[in-house]
Amino acid sequence: MRICVSLRADTTHELLSRMESLPREVDLVEIRADLVRDLNIPSLLKNKKFPVIFTLRPLHEGGHFEGSVEKRHRAHLEALEYGADYLDVEGDLDLGLFQRNKRQARIIYSYHNFEKTPDLRRQLQIMVSTPADIYKIAAFGASYADVVEFFELLERARQAKKNVIAIAMGAKGLCTRVLGPARGSFLTYAAEEGDRATAPGQPTLRELLHVYRIRYIDSATTLVGLIGNPVGHSLSPLLHNRAAQHLGLNLCYLPFSVEELEPFFRLFDYLGMKGLSVTLPHKQAVLAYVDELDPLASRVGAANTVAVRDGKRVGYNTDVEGFLRPLSERMSLEGCRAVVLGAGGVARAAVVALQQAGVAVTLLNRTFRRGRELAQALGADVGDPEQLPGLSYDLLINATSAGMHPQVNESPIPVRDLCPGTLVYDLVYNPPETLLLREARSRGCAVLGGVEMFVHQAALQFELWTGQRPPVEMLRDLVLDELGKA
Ligand code: NDP
Repeated sequence: MRICVSLRADTTHELLSRMESLPREVDLVEIRADLVRDLNIPSLLKNKKFPVIFTLRPLHEGGHFEGSVEKRHRAHLEALEYGADYLDVEGDLDLGLFQRNKRQARIIYSYHNFEKTPDLRRQLQIMVSTPADIYKIAAFGASYADVVEFFELLERARQAKKNVIAIAMGAKGLCTRVLGPARGSFLTYAAEEGDRATAPGQPTLRELLHVYRIRYIDSATTLVGLIGNPVGHSLSPLLHNRAAQHLGLNLCYLPFSVEELEPFFRLFDYLGMKGLSVTLPHKQAVLAYVDELDPLASRVGAANTVAVRDGKRVGYNTDVEGFLRPLSERMSLEGCRAVVLGAGGVARAAVVALQQAGVAVTLLNRTFRRGRELAQALGADVGDPEQLPGLSYDLLINATSAGMHPQVNESPIPVRDLCPGTLVYDLVYNPPETLLLREARSRGCAVLGGVEMFVHQAALQFELWTGQRPPVEMLRDLVLDELGKA
């Protein structure tokens, strides 16, 4: 398994100092020479600290080099002379010239398409008619149907014993970057950190090594993931991958940015995935893609989890139990009265959970009509948020997104409406300490934050996929630590 960090810098000096500071876990470094203003090839290559791929990407392949074909030939020959370990070259150059002058170096013949995924089988066929050591195809993956084709390409290349690098660019291609090496891709690329990514969708070295634990992925790895839109800032990949590590399980959890479920499930089946977390906006639509539905998910009318059982996709809802567990540790629920603020997805799960536990529920939502619909569907009372001071209750649940990052100075209700002596359970978990919770405490209420539900529903998902339960304390510490960094 090879991980190549793509380095981009304005100057030769900066590039070398960046290379100097890379960790030893890196196998290769790609020098994006087309981005260096004062390119000094001898100095770069004499002082390299890692095996180097020399790349001088021209404008027409999405790079920045504006020089002539002649200049590109000369620069590549110079790179070979000074010890580049790999040349990454495009098809308009004379690859035979480099093959004759390469000595120990290896030639990567690369093709890029930033707009779409072409016919990959055909593209590779065309490329292999020109001798090279490695063939690289990087193209934009607009849908998960395209992404499947990249994995099929790797499979064909493996059968044909060709060295291939196959990368779907864009957010949907993350899985080709993480799973590619275990499926035969010659290498995968990583960005140094954050915004220095050299290609769209490229993960950082830290993510590859420490979130997805790429070095441990092999053909026996159980694949699970998250589908939603957006998923970019989700804590779930960190949480589930760390749980797997803690329990010594060969499992990898990946985020999938999904707009359309149909092509995604083609990929799900192709990769032989074993489960999913499902988040907004797919919790209801996913019901059409499961073979069976757990009775609780059926009652809620939404699934936040899919697990494959005997080859069938089964939909579950762990939000219900995840909501209830921390709450029932804090108070005895039978015969209580609760007010739920909100009428969205999580409010639905909360109402079902409370009713199961014998709690009488009144639903108050900003948009009354939406609140009434949900209350009628589930058999709860309904009202306007302004009616809160007139209600008698033991428990107040915030199931709205008021107070959620970045609207951290919002609260769903005015502080004067909070009733001392009640328990206030805010399901918002980012930030862990919301304005509502602070105000509730100051009014003499007991409080419970949304991180508790978040980690419990995640632990239950993990258990559905693996049969093993990760320690909730560990997950809680992880979430609080990550949210504290934000
Ligand atoms: P939805 O978008 O489905 O519903 C949002 C709800 O919040 C609606 O009822 C909406 O009212 C209401 N709302 C939004 N903004 C305000 C506001 N400023 N004042 C009053 N009401 C408002 O979202 P979800 O139900 O999926 O999620 C709601 C919250 O719960 C989010 O913060 C989410 O992060 C959190 N959550 C926590 C989980 C956990 O594990 N702790 C799990 C899932 C979600 P209206 O109908 O009028 O638009």
